[in-house]
Amino acid sequence: MTATEFEAIPAVAGAEPRLGTLVMKFGGTSVADPEKIRDVARRLVEARAAGNRVVAVLSAMGHSTDDLVRLAHEVSARPKPRELDMLISVGERISCALAAMAIHDLGAEAISLTGSQAGIVTDTVHGRAKIVDVRARRIHEALDQDRIVLVAGFQGVSTDQDITTLGRGGSDTTAVALAAALGAEVCEIYTDVEGVFTADPRLVPEARKLHAVSYEEMLELAASGAKVLQVRSVEVARNHNVKLHVRSTFSAEEGTWIREEDDRMLEKALISGVTHTREETLYRVEGTTPSRLFAALAEAGVNVDTIVQTSPEIVFSAPADDRDSATDVLDGLDVRWSARDDLGKVSVIGAGMKSHPGVAAKAFATLAEAGIEPEVVTTSPIKISCHIRTDEVETAVAVLHRAFELDAPDAERQHA
Ligand code: ASP
Ligand code: MG
Repeated sequence: MTATEFEAIPAVAGAEPRLGTLVMKFGGTSVADPEKIRDVARRLVEARAAGNRVVAVLSAMGHSTDDLVRLAHEVSARPKPRELDMLISVGERISCALAAMAIHDLGAEAISLTGSQAGIVTDTVHGRAKIVDVRARRIHEALDQDRIVLVAGFQGVSTDQDITTLGRGGSDTTAVALAAALGAEVCEIYTDVEGVFTADPRLVPEARKLHAVSYEEMLELAASGAKVLQVRSVEVARNHNVKLHVRSTFSAEEGTWIREEDDRMLEKALISGVTHTREETLYRVEGTTPSRLFAALAEAGVNVDTIVQTSPEIVFSAPADDRDSATDVLDGLDVRWSARDDLGKVSVIGAGMKSHPGVAAKAFATLAEAGIEPEVVTTSPIKISCHIRTDEVETAVAVLHRAFELDAPDAERQHA
């Protein structure tokens, strides 16, 4: 499910949005080793020298968050969520402290801040906390002192004064929330790919970088398999109208802009991309009501995606990672249920399909021609998703990408 609950990001009282504030977020691969950290420092110093008030949000180095999670489970079978957050929030602090040192060596001023010191206040849900306030006074003070401010991503302090984390990929959300609270014109997301592509280039070599996508499209893309941004960060960007620029750390090329829909986005390509998930468990449940079932799943933190009800049966899908929690819930509910673990999902997404009929027909015909029969089909105004067998996912992505001519050079939308 694409959760779209509103997330409040009130700016600090009395702080007028100031022109020239730039929020730059760097992902784990961009800060993976000391040399890369020095490169990031150089980039930040350059942005400062160009006249910007620079706030950088850094992820943990490389896969260090995974390592910390693994470490916790080596010590304890069921680590308490509060302590897990204390542990896994450390990675981002390491990156920020090191980057501040590298900036000092370049002769510029910098200060590293934890999420808590930066004024990121969250609710009390450990492991997937939501930002409820950004008290940016300290950031403003540091910027006024001409410093580059480095904020540890992915974390905050709860209204109960405990350290919380924002869910995997949460540094994106830290960056967007700060951009909203500081009135930054753009939030730049630096990553190891050149932008958002029409499909995963590892599966479809002809996939093209998109010049711009709307918030709605990006929400669907991120929710249905594009891993480049945390879904929550796109919701915050849309709710606060923060322009995002997803681009490569390793080149100076323009990346992909994520912004409000405009007509030029609609007139060119009907479809902006084909996304996929290799594994998504599909459940069939009988003998309960949706309210009872989904309340129990939500309680257990199962991230339900597709829901189809054809009474008496309820069909839903959830990430393969949530299989154990879902099994516990279903066993505890006294219902008849079954699950399929051999399915994945392919989705065709594009704002243009709102005004053009026939996209669904073409998608189904294309899959049928390739001998692929969807198990479950779900749609939104700008998305068609099909659950298909995992071993058919690669083919499905390739044939749909070709059928909608996403590899054609003039499919590229140009609207700076
Ligand atoms: N380091 C955290 C993660 O790996 C947060 C992030 O990188 O956005 O999920
Ligand atoms: Mg990420």
